Amino acid sequence: MNNATARDTSALPIHTVHTYDAVIIGAGIGGLYQLYKLREAGLKVLAIDAGTGVGGTWYWNRYPGARVDSPSHVYQYWFSEALNNAWDWSERFPAQPETERYLNFVADRFDLRKDIQFSTRVLSCTFDEDKARWQVVTDQGSLIDAKYLISCAGTLSTPLKNLFEGEQDFQGQVYHTARWPKQPVDFNGKRVGVVGTGATGIQVVQTIAPQVASLTVFQRTAPYTIPMRNQRYTDQDRAKLKTRFHEIKALTRNSFVGFDFDFNHGSYHDATPQDRREVLEMLWDDGSLALWAGSYGEIFNDEAVNKEVSAFVRQKMSERIKDPALIKQLVPTDYGFGTRRVPLDTGYLETFLRPNVQIVDIKAAPIERIVTNGVQTADGKVHELDVLILATGFDASTGALTQIDIRGRDGQLLREEWSQDLRTTLGLMVHKFPNLFLTAAPLSPGAALCNAPTCLQHQVEWITDCIQFLQAGERQSIEPTLTQQDQWVAHHDEMAASSLLAKTRSWYTGGNVAGKPKRLLAYAGGVNVYREHCDAVAAQGYADFRIN
Ligand code: NAP
Repeated sequence: MNNATARDTSALPIHTVHTYDAVIIGAGIGGLYQLYKLREAGLKVLAIDAGTGVGGTWYWNRYPGARVDSPSHVYQYWFSEALNNAWDWSERFPAQPETERYLNFVADRFDLRKDIQFSTRVLSCTFDEDKARWQVVTDQGSLIDAKYLISCAGTLSTPLKNLFEGEQDFQGQVYHTARWPKQPVDFNGKRVGVVGTGATGIQVVQTIAPQVASLTVFQRTAPYTIPMRNQRYTDQDRAKLKTRFHEIKALTRNSFVGFDFDFNHGSYHDATPQDRREVLEMLWDDGSLALWAGSYGEIFNDEAVNKEVSAFVRQKMSERIKDPALIKQLVPTDYGFGTRRVPLDTGYLETFLRPNVQIVDIKAAPIERIVTNGVQTADGKVHELDVLILATGFDASTGALTQIDIRGRDGQLLREEWSQDLRTTLGLMVHKFPNLFLTAAPLSPGAALCNAPTCLQHQVEWITDCIQFLQAGERQSIEPTLTQQDQWVAHHDEMAASSLLAKTRSWYTGGNVAGKPKRLLAYAGGVNVYREHCDAVAAQGYADFRIN
């Protein structure tokens, strides 16, 4: 189902045994906050991360041009106004180093590092039914005994690799964008190839094109893309945003995708053609994802509306490049705007007007194999390269957990369960896996359809409340029942049924990973509605769960 290799950990030498109340997998945005919250709640907690530093996504994705496309004033923590006041964002859409610095700043400010074990991979987690505790084995030879196991392992954290035969034969350098080296890569005078034109590929292409001798972009699906309107923040901008701390926090939690915008323009059908045009133009000029998830909600579930908005975006994209041959290659026509994740770009389309950049249509002639001197496509051509960059994406939402042997009650293996069907309860727990809590997991908005910090913080808070409830009642364990899980899966599917996202092949539906069960990964009812469901469960004292 994924390209990760599970290891047999039964024969692994165990050097040390530690006991904790909770183990957190991952020290990115979610893991850092979960560590902070559980420590505040008085628990003995350990976070484990494979990296040498904190940051998760922002630690691993240090490829050229990596930049967030949620505005910094929503891509942040909301638990401390003092923290918010102590940090100054330099711009609206900061580059990777700044977001990584922010997360390091948070880790230092709250002294989180002392409870994080870096350079360590979790290999297996086994629920001991007699003790009602998790036994976590790491590649550093330790066994950790903990009551609670919390995955903050990230949704876009397991890169899709080994997709092409012959990669090991290539005599140049190969990089996956999500495993980019810390040292700068020298592209000077090099013939560089980039496979993939998602949000990552776009950023790489537009950034390195001026540095390389030649750039060959291997494209299977052309993306819709909106020109990013980045902006350096002045002291005045920052001061203004800081006074809006509580307002913006509330907006993010009450919106459809966790931003400070929402579908505030009414129904597309009720608007006049002129009103619609004005709204779309205004949001296009905003240069953010508001055109996608802050314009008209019907974009997501009404084919006729989606068709019209897609035509608007196509026209805008075409105006940028003008050349009919390039328009044919770069402007999508085979799926609707917003049904796959929309990237923001900075001169991406115009990059193809450069004489040193060429596009190769790998839908027409797929990549057959990597050869010693480049990439061979099905039309028999060899595209000669010195450097090959794989911007091929991730085994989203499930990949990080299916590469660990996670065994719940009755020896049930999560990887096996999810190889049949992706099922969770509220995207937070799984039947047969007591005391295992998930963030950004399938069937929650955070799996794919959310400004990540918004959903991660909400889920961390829900998990913390649940754990505190169990601790206060001196309870051993909590687990969703099968009925409860069936109900959530049915509700999720009902929400997904009307969504155009579910009908389009992309990582949103697992369509990018061979053999992965196909289901819309993210809950499509909205961040706001999802939060109400979760809050209701907590308010009822987790009544439907099996609690021992
Ligand atoms: P992605 O959207 O899944 O794009 C992967 C690209 O690789 C696609 O163009 C895909 O083609 C291509 N590809 C994959 N396997 C292939 C194969 N076997 N042969 C040929 N082409 C192949 O991955 P991503 O660009 O890394 O982005 C993933 C997500 O990360 C984004 O959607 C976004 O949520 C997040 N992200 C955010 C930012 C940001 O905030 N600025 C930046 C980067 C990423 P197909 O489309 O045809 O499958």
